[in-house]
Amino acid sequence: MSVLVVGSVALDSVETPFGKADDVLGGSATFFSASASHLTKVNVVGVVGNDYPMDKLEPLKKRGVDFAGLEQADGPSFRWRGRYSHDLNSAETLETHLGVFSNFSAKIPEALRSSEYVFLGNIDPRLQLDVLTMMKKPKLVTCDTMNFWIQSRRPELIKLLEKVDIVTLNDGEARQLTEKSNLVQAAQWIMGLGPRHVIIKKGEHGAFLFTRDTIFFAPAFPLENVFDPTGAGDSFAGGFVGYIARTGDMSEANLRRAVVYGSVMGSFAVEKFSIERLMTVTKAEITQRMQDMRRLVTFEEELPA
Ligand code: AMP
Repeated sequence: MSVLVVGSVALDSVETPFGKADDVLGGSATFFSASASHLTKVNVVGVVGNDYPMDKLEPLKKRGVDFAGLEQADGPSFRWRGRYSHDLNSAETLETHLGVFSNFSAKIPEALRSSEYVFLGNIDPRLQLDVLTMMKKPKLVTCDTMNFWIQSRRPELIKLLEKVDIVTLNDGEARQLTEKSNLVQAAQWIMGLGPRHVIIKKGEHGAFLFTRDTIFFAPAFPLENVFDPTGAGDSFAGGFVGYIARTGDMSEANLRRAVVYGSVMGSFAVEKFSIERLMTVTKAEITQRMQDMRRLVTFEEELPA
């Protein structure tokens, strides 16, 4: 099984209380692929500029990420600059330069149009919509977005949400999109547009999976040191969609397991800058953290006599 992802392939400059990184690999499609590649094959569709350090993608290629759908165009790459204060839960965006993404129209190679699992990573909803119209009959389309697009492309985003199966977004974005402060109501509002499921991520406070009639919650893995939260959301999505693609099972029990995989992959992403940690994490470490997650939430229900 494989997943097709479209999204930003970026150069990030990040400041956290623990350090600074300039022009490192980032972007929704990059984090997603780095994470999902531990579970399935990934095909990336996107664009970079002629300033992009293509050689830095080699470790991802070695992990089975296929960049045949990544164009290199004349102009500057997408660049994002962000800062985190001691509350590592929300990034302050200092700069967003779309660069070559502002004139990009996606061309999905013929062989990828019949991909069964599609992730529309955070990028212009017009581009996400275009990609969707080129796909033949995907089994599962999941999409993500962020405040930048909720603000600037609301009508297009709503149109997109009507066409996807699962939406992932964080709590602030859910409130901004739906204008509801209660997250249960926000999820219902989004499902009212069409999606079968909504995942609302709450940073270090875990993630909710909403279906039409159930709610599941997975905590974030309680790390002793969170180094750089950038990419946690996309890495979560990589674990989630990657696990569903690997198993081909969309039952609710499996979606719940997928959410825990998402949470585990997100927890590795934040241990270092960029995709560094996702490039070194081993299968054994992932399995161990899945077991630790299980232990974290298991308890005996005991009523004193
Ligand atoms: P997250 O997983 O939510 O932390 O996403 C982090 C990534 O989002 C960074 O690597 C950025 O390059 C990317 N990003 C930031 N702003 C945008 C935007 N407006 N559109 C697409 N990607 C973005």
